[in-house]
Amino acid sequence: MRQINLKAMAKINLSLDVTGERENGYHDLRMVMQSIRLYDRISLNITRSPGVKMETNLGFLPVDANNLAAKAARILIDEFQIPEGVFISLEKHIPVAAGMAGGSSDAAAVLVGMNILFHLGLSQEKLMERGLKIGADVPFCILRGIALAEGIGEILTPLPHIPDCLILVAKPEVHVSTKYVYSHLVLDEKLKHPDIDGQIQAIREGNLREMCRLQGNVLESVTVPMHPEIGALRDLMLEGGAIGAMMSGSGPTVFGIFDDEKAVRRTREKLIASPLARQTYLTTPYYPER
Ligand code: ATP
Repeated sequence: MRQINLKAMAKINLSLDVTGERENGYHDLRMVMQSIRLYDRISLNITRSPGVKMETNLGFLPVDANNLAAKAARILIDEFQIPEGVFISLEKHIPVAAGMAGGSSDAAAVLVGMNILFHLGLSQEKLMERGLKIGADVPFCILRGIALAEGIGEILTPLPHIPDCLILVAKPEVHVSTKYVYSHLVLDEKLKHPDIDGQIQAIREGNLREMCRLQGNVLESVTVPMHPEIGALRDLMLEGGAIGAMMSGSGPTVFGIFDDEKAVRRTREKLIASPLARQTYLTTPYYPER
């Protein structure tokens, strides 16, 4: 085999809590992460010339070692002293810098693909260890499906599938840096923490309404006052019939969970007609075959 094609899945956070800050600047997190059927396409080709080369359809993204996909390939090439090279072709569909782990998922897919292509024999756990060196979300992007993520995001406990639902994703035209959001989070007694254990219980019971009622993202306390568009998008989704609506990760993307197809389509049309959302996607949860 000289070539492999992969799908790198986006994620949303069904809830996100920050429980502490470490001396190295990392935060202790508790999050329920869910993969969704919105993905980048990646193909890997073995090349005779050594090293990593790549191309992408988005001109503003780096194609050097700063691209997380190239970084992932480089880690395995160096560690296993692979004499050949790899050419990565990356077709982006996941919104960039949106809180949907696009770059992390690309890196995860490259690690998985290189393991197969070069017969490296690494277990999923070993791939996750390499992934963590690239970013805290990479281990989940290797696992996929739904999981509770703890630690800095690397301690993963798979959870049962959530009930069937439709997920409307909307990215407003604002830019938020993940670093800025975490560094401006005020971890005091006024911060309202989501009931993640309650949400997990609701997931175990297959209760979509209760799962949505208990969702929460502490990072909204930083981004919503800064960017009213995020709150407005959330309200528009709830008015349109979403059972729950929330910002994903450090934002600015907002997602709404619906159980009614007509309502979700009407809401999407409203979003498209409004100046609030630049990109919208109608999708569903994604689970890998195990
Ligand atoms: P997270 O949810 O993990 O915080 P994100 O969705 O906020 O991730 P990304 O889309 O992964 O953010 O990208 C953030 C930055 O990383 C971009 O500004 C981009 O320049 C850089 N980057 C490097 N590699 C990639 C990649 N393969 N895809 C997207 N961005 C990348």
